[in-house]
Amino acid sequence: MSFDEKVRVNAYLVHPTPHIEVDTAKCRTCKTRPCLRLCPAGCYRELPSGEVAFYHDACLECGTCRIICTLGAVRWSYPEAGFGIWYRFG
Ligand code: SF4
Repeated sequence: MSFDEKVRVNAYLVHPTPHIEVDTAKCRTCKTRPCLRLCPAGCYRELPSGEVAFYHDACLECGTCRIICTLGAVRWSYPEAGFGIWYRFG
């Protein structure tokens, strides 16, 4: 089973309030934007305007974006208890 197939069978209970906050003003100054390439769930996307958009609903709670953002634009926390991803394949 591929990574994408495993991810698709997970279940989510998405909290309406994102558990990760992104300071897009800092993103505007970022030259490398590693979040666009390294988030395994594709939660960070570049809009046609060049802005970085963040979508929390598919987050795997891996913590990668917290570590790779060198500008400190990501304020990271786990979702409220009972919300977020329910892994089915570990
Ligand atoms: Fe993506 Fe992982 Fe950050 Fe969630 S915690 S947004 S899956 S890099």
